[in-house]
Amino acid sequence: MKFGTKTIHAGLHPDPETGAIMTPIYQTTTYVQARPGDHRGYEYSRTGNPTRHALESNLAALENGKHGLCFGSGMAAIDAVAKLLNQGDEVISTNDLYGGTYRLFTKIYERLGLKFQFTSMADPSAVEALVNEKTKMLWIETPTNPMMNIIDIQAMVTIGKKHDLIVCVDNTFATPYLQRPLDLGADIVMHSATKYLGGHSDVVMGALISSNDELAERLYFIQNSSGAICGPMDSFLVLRGIKTLHLRMQRHSENGRTIAEFLKNHPEVEKVYWPGFEDHPNHQIAKKQMDDFGGMISFVAKGNDYEKAIRVVSSVRVFSLAESLGGVESLCGHPASMTHASIPKEEREKNGIVDALIRLSVGIEDIEDLKADLDQALKS
Ligand SMILES: *Cc1c(COP(=O)(O)O)cnc(C)c1O
Repeated sequence: MKFGTKTIHAGLHPDPETGAIMTPIYQTTTYVQARPGDHRGYEYSRTGNPTRHALESNLAALENGKHGLCFGSGMAAIDAVAKLLNQGDEVISTNDLYGGTYRLFTKIYERLGLKFQFTSMADPSAVEALVNEKTKMLWIETPTNPMMNIIDIQAMVTIGKKHDLIVCVDNTFATPYLQRPLDLGADIVMHSATKYLGGHSDVVMGALISSNDELAERLYFIQNSSGAICGPMDSFLVLRGIKTLHLRMQRHSENGRTIAEFLKNHPEVEKVYWPGFEDHPNHQIAKKQMDDFGGMISFVAKGNDYEKAIRVVSSVRVFSLAESLGGVESLCGHPASMTHASIPKEEREKNGIVDALIRLSVGIEDIEDLKADLDQALKS
């Protein structure tokens, strides 16, 4: 089955009782047994729920994996992965990691005895230099947020295999439409389904996908033991969102390309970060591991001035100033005062997050309206 067919059909069956074509929302906690232990595969909805199960099967198929697991948020999914590790184990990750992941790792799991090392994963030798006998996992995010750096997944997998590390990829920004890390040898793919998979800004959810039976079994054990599952209604909404994932991503990528080029040529813009540009430092790797470049773009307004950036993000009319990304509607954000405000200015700027940096999640609206909106905001 090709991708656009899988989004609509993989893991889904008409309801055997009624023929309903849409997966029913099994809003139930428990399942009647004929005799103790004589059930139809479901006993209790933390352990398993048919609506959630349909979504988990669908997601596994989209990532070319065997096993899918869904959680109440992206962070809950990452939390489950961290619980694979034991006290004293070390993780190597990227130094421009999603802020919530950085917080979970450093504020909670470091206290519980894990150790995290952060480096520029764009440089594989910097990663390998940090590996020691306690290293157990590589946590990768690509493209990164908000600087749109690209990490070579295959190069990380090579290091992982050599040193027997679990290689996990946060695939939230790319989605399986653009990038399939399991095909490149990664062990676990993680998603904040809140973003492109759900796609309509109406559900918070997380997911893990793996083809490794042993890892998946341990993750199921953690999912059931810790209990951070998502509900059947949310599972239904994300299943519905995924049915148009291929169409939305195609348009996100098309609009993203047009906006990136529009900004690059705009007199009020100093710099644009988008991996589709040939002069992006990791463009060749992006081209190798992604099918297109998506709708996430960051740029610096002319003059690199805090007030100017605030004016731009406050003047948009079609874009909305808001956190999050990946919905059908275009959003803009100001990392220095919003998502990355808790990082000291000096630290921020080391990673390129200057005061005038603006991040866009380009939606699937009519491109002419998006261009006109940014133009008037930039001239405000
Ligand atoms: C949003 C996000 C997360 C966290 O997911 P939630 O669903 O908000 O818990 C993790 N990684 C990336 C890249 C994200 O954008």
